[in-house]
Amino acid sequence: MRVSSQPRVRDPLNYRFTKKVGKGILEAGIDSLRKMKEKMKKKVAIIGGGIAGLTFSHCLSHDEYDVHIFEKKNEFGEIGAAISVFPNALCVMDEIGLLDTILNAAGKFENVFLKTHKGGVLSKSSPKSDYPVICIHRAHLHGILLKGTKAHLHNNKAVTGFTHLENGQLEVTFENGESSVFDAVIGADGIHSVVRKDIINDGAPIYRGYSIWRGVVKTTFDTGYASETFGKGQRVGIVPIKDGTYGWWATCNEKFLQDDQPEGTQQKLQRLFGDWHHPIPDLIANTEVILKNSLSDRVPHKGWTKGNMVLLGDAAHPTTPNLGQGGCMAIEGAYLLAKCINKYGLSTKAYGIYEKHQFPRSKKIINESLKLGAMGQISNPILIALRNFFFKIMPSSVAMKMIDQYFSYRVTKIEI
Ligand SMILES: Cc1cc2nc3c(=O)[nH]c(=O)nc-3n(C[C@H](O)[C@H](O)[C@H](O)COP(=O)(O)OP(=O)(O)OC[C@H]3O[C@@H](n4cnc5c(N)ncnc54)[C@H](O)[C@@H]3O)c2cc1C
Repeated sequence: MRVSSQPRVRDPLNYRFTKKVGKGILEAGIDSLRKMKEKMKKKVAIIGGGIAGLTFSHCLSHDEYDVHIFEKKNEFGEIGAAISVFPNALCVMDEIGLLDTILNAAGKFENVFLKTHKGGVLSKSSPKSDYPVICIHRAHLHGILLKGTKAHLHNNKAVTGFTHLENGQLEVTFENGESSVFDAVIGADGIHSVVRKDIINDGAPIYRGYSIWRGVVKTTFDTGYASETFGKGQRVGIVPIKDGTYGWWATCNEKFLQDDQPEGTQQKLQRLFGDWHHPIPDLIANTEVILKNSLSDRVPHKGWTKGNMVLLGDAAHPTTPNLGQGGCMAIEGAYLLAKCINKYGLSTKAYGIYEKHQFPRSKKIINESLKLGAMGQISNPILIALRNFFFKIMPSSVAMKMIDQYFSYRVTKIEI
């Protein structure tokens, strides 16, 4: 065999051309494979861009699902109020990598006081857990969840109805007359859910007899603790957010959708709470925007699924806020439902495991919160004296044990 002593010379132009074409073909191939994979992804519609919808989107596998969130408001956002987030929800935020960002924007409360309206201390408890108990501005929590979302966001898209197609898909109809087809619909559309209407149809939420006003205010003082103060058919809660910013809420027994006019909200609240202990009158007087709701919930109801349509958050289990658990449960449920779907696909099995765990827990919280609210709103002087006496003699260890059953729950540890 003749072996040339000359090294082989590569035509540099031709080589570069071939390499470029090869790379181009490879890239085009990868791109079309990527597009094909995108097209093959199952399409999931989340109705409602609140805490539940956004958390669910964080927890669902975006490699497997093409996720769209539809929000009826003009912009994705939250109201100007505070929200307490307990360890049972913070463990989810830890799991999805948002814990530190949330803690940085929040205030921790290490002590919680129950007081009379004159400031007498009925009890003091100090929650201790592997995660803190925090209070954060709702807009900040929502902003953090929104920032990291990989879902396609559609604002100004109020959902009005659904058609269950024979192949299991759902056609979602919007207020503007448009419609789109999805493989699954997650109803995270709050207490007045249109998805719930399609699945359970249990009418309007139940008004529980008291209104709540809420505000957030920047102060020059820092009490460093959270408190709940009892009056006669009235209560006030204070939670430190961060650097002297406080969230507060105040309740009063009154009729459904009672208007504060013609007296005016500030004047009315000063009349109701103006002689309560410091810093209550100051907090109210210095709050620019005060929100008001008539507090409602629903009777716990099983059956959160219809075909590939599932309820989540307040749409599934709305509760009065007396345990501060509505949003926390929305976060827990979002994590669990997503985990079940990630493992078992869009299936009856996935939805069933989620409801099996989430229903009994939410039922207990709804019922307990309702009782706590009724006790807090007592207006009979004898019953008030009994209630206050009960809180005064109850050891804080007993009180902590009672609430710990809710806060020590770790949805992230559930085996599915
Ligand atoms: C006074 C008060 C105090 C509270 N305090 C606490 C607390 O301290 N801690 C706590 O954990 N929880 C608290 N909660 C409960 C908590 O706010 C709720 O449980 C939580 O917001 C539920 O989240 P969600 O995403 O399920 O529903 P929502 O927050 O109601 O979000 C639903 C979203 O769906 C949208 N939507 C509704 N209908 C449609 C439609 N047809 N089409 C498209 N979009 C739609 C809405 O605009 C909204 O953005 C409190 C509640 C109240 C009322």
